[in-house]
Amino acid sequence: MTPSDIRTAVAELRRQLRLQVDPAKPGPVPLDAFFAELNYPRLIHHTVPDLTRGKVIDHLRGEGVRVLEAGDAAERLAGFIFKAGRAAWVYVSSDRDNPIGRQRFTAGHEFAHAVLHRDDMPEQFFADTHQMLSNPDAELGPKEREANLFAVELLIPEEVCRAREEELRREHGCCPRGVLVYRLAAELLVSRESTRYRLNELKVGDE
Ligand SMILES: [Zn+2]
Repeated sequence: MTPSDIRTAVAELRRQLRLQVDPAKPGPVPLDAFFAELNYPRLIHHTVPDLTRGKVIDHLRGEGVRVLEAGDAAERLAGFIFKAGRAAWVYVSSDRDNPIGRQRFTAGHEFAHAVLHRDDMPEQFFADTHQMLSNPDAELGPKEREANLFAVELLIPEEVCRAREEELRREHGCCPRGVLVYRLAAELLVSRESTRYRLNELKVGDE
């Protein structure tokens, strides 16, 4: 999928779920509502302190889900999605390496797998480590890149970036990109890192 396909997929999803962007209303994108409204797969969403592969597998087995491959139980994870039939379990880690902005990004990334790759999940799941999510330009497989792009598109809407740029220009006559990064990251509860990436991509704000 190209970045433009991803943009279209997010716009289409917003329309379907009636969760359109309204820049007049400040605040973060209602990620919980996206999770609640998705019909297929139905998402079951857990935030787990210091998530590991072992904790995921134990939890899934506790829910009566048959999990074959277990892997290294001690491996630390940022996020994980497992789909079985029409349901999918999403796990996001809450730990010191994963502050709120990162957690939201991880949740958005797993949500992206649920939307984009629901019929095409390898071994029925994705296990995402911190490294995979933290560098958008790392040597990632196409599905991981798509999920990162989708998360940025979903959590940092272009309309909001442009509206806040306009406000800064009206108030101060200029819009330094660094200031806009700070404001948007605080409003949208996302990391400054991914906000900077987004503004560079959109060429919003003065360099
Ligand atoms: Zn992933």
